[in-house]
Amino acid sequence: MFNKIKNLINTRIGFLGLLVFLIWIKTVIVYYADFSLGLADPLQHFIAIINPIGFAVVFFSLALFINKAKPSYIVMLIFYVILNLLLYANILYFREFTNFIPFTTMTGVSAVSKGLGTSTLSVMELKDVLFLLDFLILGILFATKVVKFDPRPYRKLNAVASTLAGLAFFSLNMMIAECNRPQLIGRTFDQTYVVKYLGIPAFTVYDAIQTAHADQVKSTATGTDIDPDLAYVHKNYAKPNSKYFGVAKKKNIIIIHLESFHQFLLNMKVNDQEVTPFLNSLYNSDETLSYDNFYHQVGSGKTIDAETMLETGLFGLPTGNYFNHQGTTNTAQAAPAILNQQQGYTSAVFHGNVGSFYSRDTVYKNLGYDYFFDQNYFNAEENNTMTFGLKDKLMLSESAKYLEQLQQPFYAKFITVTNHYSFELPDYDSDGFVTSDTPNKTVNQYFETAHYLDNALEEFFNYLKQTGLYDNSMIVMYGDHFGLTPDQTPYVGQLQGYDLDSWNDFNNAQMQKVPFMIHMKGLKGGISHKYGGEIDALPTILHLAGINTENYLQVGTDLLSDQHSQIVPFRNGNFVTPKYTVIKNKNEVYLNKTGEKIDLALNPELKDKISKWSQQIKAKFKVSDKINRLNLLRFYTPTGFKPVDPSQYSYQNQIERLEKIRKDLGNSSTSLYSKNDDKSTTDMYKTDAPELKGNRDPIDNLYSAENKAK
Ligand code: MN
Repeated sequence: MFNKIKNLINTRIGFLGLLVFLIWIKTVIVYYADFSLGLADPLQHFIAIINPIGFAVVFFSLALFINKAKPSYIVMLIFYVILNLLLYANILYFREFTNFIPFTTMTGVSAVSKGLGTSTLSVMELKDVLFLLDFLILGILFATKVVKFDPRPYRKLNAVASTLAGLAFFSLNMMIAECNRPQLIGRTFDQTYVVKYLGIPAFTVYDAIQTAHADQVKSTATGTDIDPDLAYVHKNYAKPNSKYFGVAKKKNIIIIHLESFHQFLLNMKVNDQEVTPFLNSLYNSDETLSYDNFYHQVGSGKTIDAETMLETGLFGLPTGNYFNHQGTTNTAQAAPAILNQQQGYTSAVFHGNVGSFYSRDTVYKNLGYDYFFDQNYFNAEENNTMTFGLKDKLMLSESAKYLEQLQQPFYAKFITVTNHYSFELPDYDSDGFVTSDTPNKTVNQYFETAHYLDNALEEFFNYLKQTGLYDNSMIVMYGDHFGLTPDQTPYVGQLQGYDLDSWNDFNNAQMQKVPFMIHMKGLKGGISHKYGGEIDALPTILHLAGINTENYLQVGTDLLSDQHSQIVPFRNGNFVTPKYTVIKNKNEVYLNKTGEKIDLALNPELKDKISKWSQQIKAKFKVSDKINRLNLLRFYTPTGFKPVDPSQYSYQNQIERLEKIRKDLGNSSTSLYSKNDDKSTTDMYKTDAPELKGNRDPIDNLYSAENKAK
């Protein structure tokens, strides 16, 4: 038996097999010991376990094409070293960034890679010498002559066969992956997914191709390319409303990203109970600017499209998402940086998912976010999380200990996740709310998670009121995109008394409405029927904060302005105006008031108007897409704005940094913690989250976190 194996290894193909075996075992160990790939089901474990094989076979088999034995062995060993270096570099990178090395970082192009060298050395660990174990084994095998070079030349045909076998294995791997995660490559949710399903070398190649393509397109751009876009934005700029301009000046701005939240949830009753009683109270409050004709405008990037619009004032990409595809390298002039530079805001994001998801941990630096509290900053033990991260009540309540440390005014964004497809809430998280009994399970569950989110927000607002933050904060809430699909929304329509037989594209378009509410003590609010969409959020918010958006390249307009454009384009080409809903690809037009379909053949005047509006919309998307695709903001810096240097931002050691800032500022520190006589406010946060009953540390604040670390 031993001799058989020995004889096999002493052939060239056998040696290839040995190297594949070693790198395979090593990679799988690294997957489990060093990376957190988020392997959820047995199939995912299986895919992860087999995925190193295919690529390694193909890669090493290239050396078989060298006819002579010695050079062929040497090349094979060099390839082996290359795969090892790639693996080890990713281990080090992962320790620091909990993500895999993007191609741009490897080539030193990205600003993040500056200063990487020294910090990388510091994350090396003693146990890393184990990484060299296989080299020791190989050395011993050669020294003891257990492994010898096979001097015979290798036949080309066999080399071809080996490569093809590797490719076949890789294709099979890809097919299984595609079954487990459809559109893996097309939609790229998270770089971790590519590694989990296809392995690290495949990820590197994939990322290199993507980068090369995007770079090639960008490199053709020059400084004058932005001129027509500047002219467009200037012409379409809407002046601020003097009644509202600056009413929130220097107030904290709190953004609450309501995951998958439809407008129809507001004021809706199921079994005679309000689904979202707390949000309803805000929606109907005199101190809330509420909108009932506000639409999401996302494409395939969904959550990220919503974030992109809100932060940058530009649309998401026509395909894919801005964060993964452009945001890591593009120049941005985004809300956190604008607010910081114009009025000294500190900025932070709170999110219960891992930071690498959608490359947020990289993109947020380009946007100018000072702090990013991702899942690592929360107690994310198993019962506390669901598919997309920490449950909202837990994320919001645990955020208090970080929020109280931010210098005021702050711009803080909370990205909720519990109301995310598949809308499953454990029974113990329910407060007795009895949901609908439509034939569609997803619809019934949707009301439950929305209700949970509503509860979570009420607790959060109570904390804001308790601590006084409420009195000097403007709170903006928006639904990021639809939660229910056109197959599911008719069941909601049925609950609302619609006749399902006549349910059509018009109704579906209406279902794309999401909440947009701006709440502030003393704000002159009310429910506005103005038409608008997510692209209009940023200019509206900035004007309220007293920052004129005239010089910024944002394609939406201030909802409060008299000059606001009420034509709301959807990313699929459909659009709504205050009077009509237009379904572009079917050439259908509906009257908003009655839902009645209009025959355009009998209405040539309207037909002309619609084609004019369509042109306007196309122009708007074109400007936005061009700026993003060609990275044009690098050629234009608005007056009074300083380009963001992402290398100046880090999301490591954030607690220590906040501490230091507070101590350095002494009496002039404006954090809530300082205002509260240097005492934590976390005990003012009351939550009924069952996960915390009995095991919550009452002095769970910065100091105890620090002491634990010591
Ligand atoms: Mn979302």
